[in-house]
Amino acid sequence: MKALVLTKKEHLKLQELPDVPLKSHEIKVKVNYVGVCGTDKHLYQGLPGSGEANMPVVLGHEISGVVKQLGSEVNSPLKIGDRVAIDPNIPCGFCQYCQEGRPQLCEHNQAVGVTRHGGMAEFVNVPESNVFRIPDSLSLKAAAMVEPVSCAVHGLDELIVKPHYTALVIGNGFIGQIFTAILAKSGLKKVDVSGRNPKKVDLLRKIGATEVFNPEKEQHDETYDIVIECVGYTGTQEQAIASARRGGQILMFGVSGPDDLIKINSYDIFFKELTIKGAFINPHAMLDAIQLMAEKRLDVEPLITHEMRLEDIPDVLGGTIDYKITKAVIRMD
Ligand SMILES: [Zn+2]
Ligand SMILES: [Zn+2]
Repeated sequence: MKALVLTKKEHLKLQELPDVPLKSHEIKVKVNYVGVCGTDKHLYQGLPGSGEANMPVVLGHEISGVVKQLGSEVNSPLKIGDRVAIDPNIPCGFCQYCQEGRPQLCEHNQAVGVTRHGGMAEFVNVPESNVFRIPDSLSLKAAAMVEPVSCAVHGLDELIVKPHYTALVIGNGFIGQIFTAILAKSGLKKVDVSGRNPKKVDLLRKIGATEVFNPEKEQHDETYDIVIECVGYTGTQEQAIASARRGGQILMFGVSGPDDLIKINSYDIFFKELTIKGAFINPHAMLDAIQLMAEKRLDVEPLITHEMRLEDIPDVLGGTIDYKITKAVIRMD
């Protein structure tokens, strides 16, 4: 099968790989769409994703497709031909965190497209418990976004969200847009967005942003009950904490560098009773992500800016061509 393989740091190769034999509790999925994610770029650069890349590895963890083959001992009711989305994370099930019901913190997490072959290939083999059937109302293109949406759902699961609250989303990229759309539909008093690209203002308003402002041009003194940081730069992280009102909750969602440090006014944490939370990957969130998208409470297709070919991806991840991507998916045929 044709596959895009990260052979070593900064080396991507389109290769013909032998078909990987299916284990007894695995399902082979024919890939239709696979998303390209900031994590893929990090892995390409030799940085960790949800784990260390186990090279050579086929990238791609945002996957939709159709069930092609069932392993000999599969118990799942899925049938050949079912349309599915994939949860790439495979917790061990026996470490302390797994046994506490916090699989995202698993000490031995495996991940499709990170530690084992992923979806930038014609086929991908995944454990049966990681394969989720999608309803007819959800397109396969949109279904490739179930994984990133599920990560946002987990982030929101970490927060207390009330109708009279106000929220600020920092960052107008794909994840910032997802948070904006979900929060707007959950009926908050207002959902403002801070982002630098003026070309995105109309789209952000359309998906429910109350006000969009450019932090470089406008001084914004308002403070918020909920602040979601989706950029991952130290400056915007500090801005996020400073933008919370008393009793506010700050969700650190953007991925910063492993050694980044930020300055926090520790008196503020005490005096304002701030809650600062992290959210890592997508525990128990796939079903909610699928439901939100199937009901069109979150319509992701208009947020996908590029549909690409596998052949395009070395230039995308290597940065040799700037396609001005907010979110790209690869269509596999
Ligand atoms: Zn991703
Ligand atoms: Zn575990």
